[in-house]
Amino acid sequence: MRFVEEFRDPDAAKSVLAAIAHVADEIGATREKPVHIMEICGGHTHAIFRYGLDKLVHGGIEFIHGPGCPVCVLPRSRVDECIELAERPEVIFTTFGDAMRVPGTGKSLMQAKADGADIRMVYSPLDALELARRNPDRQVVFFGLGFETTTPSTAFSIQQAAREGLSNFSVFCNHITVPPPIKALLDDPHMVLDGFVGPGHVSMVIGVHPYDFIARDYGKPLVVSGFEPLDLLQSVLMVLCQIRDGRAEIENQYARVVPEHGNPASLAAVADVYEPRPSFEWRGLGEIDASGLRIRDAYAAFDAETKFGVGYGAAAGRLVVEEPEGAACGAVMTGRCKPTDCPQFGKGCTPEMPLGALMVSSEGACAAYYQYGGARAVEVAE
Ligand code: SF4
Repeated sequence: MRFVEEFRDPDAAKSVLAAIAHVADEIGATREKPVHIMEICGGHTHAIFRYGLDKLVHGGIEFIHGPGCPVCVLPRSRVDECIELAERPEVIFTTFGDAMRVPGTGKSLMQAKADGADIRMVYSPLDALELARRNPDRQVVFFGLGFETTTPSTAFSIQQAAREGLSNFSVFCNHITVPPPIKALLDDPHMVLDGFVGPGHVSMVIGVHPYDFIARDYGKPLVVSGFEPLDLLQSVLMVLCQIRDGRAEIENQYARVVPEHGNPASLAAVADVYEPRPSFEWRGLGEIDASGLRIRDAYAAFDAETKFGVGYGAAAGRLVVEEPEGAACGAVMTGRCKPTDCPQFGKGCTPEMPLGALMVSSEGACAAYYQYGGARAVEVAE
């Protein structure tokens, strides 16, 4: 299969691994003094563990798993707000399946559904629109969740609802953007990062220039990467070469998919429907300025927060909820510790009974450790 098999070729992988080892030695990276490379995207975290790349690369390279899984960074308070909406008798609450098991303070959406809330899994916001057309006497709320990759499809659905004059469709908007949390991480004095592997899918929409500040203001290299093993290995090599050469640039390893300036149609729809919120809460990172999107006043009729007075739209303000006791989700999310360092890993927190969101989504670092490290990862934690 073109663009898949050639990016999984074992012989090519061996030669890139050898090149990585050579450059890592040149810059003096060792197990004791490693080069720290953050893969921002949860899809990359999943691929690194799935293909064992963390074990295959030179021992002087340490992957730090970034905050790029939208389910994982959803704070418990937002899950509680979803449940508050979903439990209204007039509401049909629609969501992608991966958000169903994210734990809130008291329960998850899955548990709320078992308790009788009308919660339905959909594959697209267009499915939610169709539900609204077919149920004119109910209020259909779509749980808009995700980074720049999914934001355009929600924007298109809101524009379509406006064209049709649908008065029973709204979006609970939890769309977030990648550059602000990277800036927050770089501003953290405890964070030691030498370079980034940048997200592929997000960059298809926004292009490569929103990352320019990382090289310009912080002197760190970033390479936008694809998701196959050879994509990731080549991106690591490109980051290492920049470090060796004393360069800090934004490079595009995934040029076969990511256009330099992104996708104009998607960017136009997003700009029409959304504007940045002053700040938005992230699990483990707290409130980050301009990191979330809200629905513009012109489309307020389709904004569930305004319509139902919940979340940032609540007159009394939002409740911020702490992480569960003993959970190290925030520390894992910011690369301060590994999933296996969390006292709950494999004990109080497993994929079957997740305590934190990083164990729910397959893109979460804890779920990836558990799935691909299996029993050994649990042993390490003990
Ligand atoms: S093991 Fe569970 S509680 Fe601990 S950091 Fe991971 S998701 Fe959070």
